[in-house]
Amino acid sequence: MTSSGVLPRDVHLELPAPRTAWADIRSDSSCKVRCRAICADTATGGSEKLITADQMSLIDHAITANQAFVKTYNPALVKSPAPKLAIVTCMEPQLTNLNLALGLEAEDADVIRNAGNIINEDSIRSLVVSTQVLGTKEIMIIGHTECGMTTFHDDDLIEKLQDNTGTTPIAPSRFYAFSNVEANTRLQVQKVKTHPWISHSVTVRGFVYDVHTGEIHEVMQPDIPAPTSGTMTHDEEMSGS
Ligand SMILES: [Zn+2]
Repeated sequence: MTSSGVLPRDVHLELPAPRTAWADIRSDSSCKVRCRAICADTATGGSEKLITADQMSLIDHAITANQAFVKTYNPALVKSPAPKLAIVTCMEPQLTNLNLALGLEAEDADVIRNAGNIINEDSIRSLVVSTQVLGTKEIMIIGHTECGMTTFHDDDLIEKLQDNTGTTPIAPSRFYAFSNVEANTRLQVQKVKTHPWISHSVTVRGFVYDVHTGEIHEVMQPDIPAPTSGTMTHDEEMSGS
């Protein structure tokens, strides 16, 4: 946690591989003002307007940009999804273009994202649908270096939220913060491999993406006992004890 009480976000670096003019605009040092003026002008087709960052939220910008996007959108160029792979990864913005780093087209993979690439009830729900209904045969779980989930502890965040709100809701009961990216990735792989509704015929492998190099490396799976329910702390889960 920061001294201001704001939950730290993942470290933000430059986009790994800008693909569009929009990305080029974003890389410009004056992008906050310039890109919004350009987008507004593109969408309306009118004379250039100067719209400052103070006048337009990023959501407003997205709405305006979408109006320009649909004018050139061609559904005939969109391939039907035919995923054979499911990927569970972090919500970290640098992983948004993960398909590019992995040489995958959008239609190749179901991508499931949450903070810390955690296997919980919701992500396993998506994986069961992906493998049992949609027919994916392989699962990649991809953590990443510099993950924001390594920058706080569950107990600290819960205590702060309780202090700030005066409430103790029953959910979420934990945030699954962790200190070791590789160990966390191995644990999530273990959770998937031991889930009774994920077929043993589905390959499950874990990786860590290096945000500085764009490279993934596989985390090898040691012999970790299957997690028991209920009483185990997160540290115990991480150590496999
Ligand atoms: Zn992360």
